[in-house]
Amino acid sequence: MGRLVMKFGETSVATAERIEAVAAIVASRAERRPIVVVSAVGVSVPGEAKITDQLEAMAELAHAHKPYQENLDKIRVKHEKVLKELGLSWELIGPVWTKLRNALSDLDRPYEEYLDDVFSFGERLSSHIVAEVMNAKGTPAVCVDVDELDIITDENFQDATVTPENEGRILGRFRTEEKVLVVPGFAGHTADGRVTTLGRGGSDYTAALVGAALEAGEIQIWTDVSGMRSADPRLVPDAERLDVISFDEAKALAAFGARVLHPKTIEPAMRKNIPVVILNSFRPGDEGTTIRAEHIKQNKVIKAIAHKKGIEMLSIESTSMLGASGYMARIFNIFAKYGIDIEMMATTEVSISMTINNNKNLDKAVEELKEFANVTLEPGQTVICIVGEGMRHTPGVSGRVFSTLGTAGVNVEMITQGGSEINITFLVDDKDADRAIKALYYACIS
Ligand code: ASP
Repeated sequence: MGRLVMKFGETSVATAERIEAVAAIVASRAERRPIVVVSAVGVSVPGEAKITDQLEAMAELAHAHKPYQENLDKIRVKHEKVLKELGLSWELIGPVWTKLRNALSDLDRPYEEYLDDVFSFGERLSSHIVAEVMNAKGTPAVCVDVDELDIITDENFQDATVTPENEGRILGRFRTEEKVLVVPGFAGHTADGRVTTLGRGGSDYTAALVGAALEAGEIQIWTDVSGMRSADPRLVPDAERLDVISFDEAKALAAFGARVLHPKTIEPAMRKNIPVVILNSFRPGDEGTTIRAEHIKQNKVIKAIAHKKGIEMLSIESTSMLGASGYMARIFNIFAKYGIDIEMMATTEVSISMTINNNKNLDKAVEELKEFANVTLEPGQTVICIVGEGMRHTPGVSGRVFSTLGTAGVNVEMITQGGSEINITFLVDDKDADRAIKALYYACIS
């Protein structure tokens, strides 16, 4: 059966009660020698900021030499409360807390490096708590901190990646450990030991990396919903659970808004052909969604709709260089220089339209593009992605999709089809998005 990697997201470790439930779930699978990956302790009071967000706000203040004691106290109080409810003492996380304080006062480094060090502590604290609860409940467990995990990443702070060559080193000497290993998600380090983080929500990716490194039998992502649904249930309450989907389908859904899975999770699992199963720690008896390689025969051509609102469309129109070679290269060099990640794109000879994933340097890139092109930004767009392996061989799908949108009175801005032909992705105005999704669901899926 192979070993099991079990990742528990923040809602699964938000309170003492939830952490005890996690310990019971892990104990029930102990014979598969699980490796447990955890997120930071989650929010238990409505309106409370996430620990990772609190760490970021604190890092920003501290690095700017502004007072941050109040922020630190708030994080401390949250952890004290959880420990107290579990009957555990502060001593358990005392050494990690000292590491956090040291990280905070080590100001003499670039902000992006400083932030990742501070950022990583939510998971580094929660992993100790989860391991101790397992021990207390009779499942021998050991917590391994980031500096011992050998998750060696590139230097892309805040969104670091592990190359396949480095994947094989993950967990090093801990691979043969007999106890349950509890591993903090979200963090790694550069080859020279500086802490990096893997992107927001990146603990899923940690689980996939660990799974790939160990050639695990299964990677389980435990969250607070029973698997993926065929559309956002807040818009389409009828949307059913997806029982099995392919890696390619999951990749498209995760990239375009299905929030239960971080998009970087699929690649390592797919390369090693390890099934990823999305499960609900609040309802451990429920079936979830299995993501795996085999082509699954089914009667539905379109299986699911994902969407992301509040997206900005960037259009670049050629001025002086119309028809000149090297025009595209010039544009993409600017994107590469600023680390801008294109999500979807449509081109003609004179214009390119696209949406981008990360935009912290967008202003600078736009300034440079304006030197040789007309650039317009159109905010308030929604990306909608229609997914299904069956689309590969079925003619007329896009006809059905776009005539449905036409009948619903939805104007489509930009259309692309992924290289694997299992998705059609397009942009609509935010105000039309809900109507478009509902119309598509009832015309093409239900
Ligand atoms: N704690 C990190 C975040 O909030 C990573 C994770 O939970 O997966 O983004």
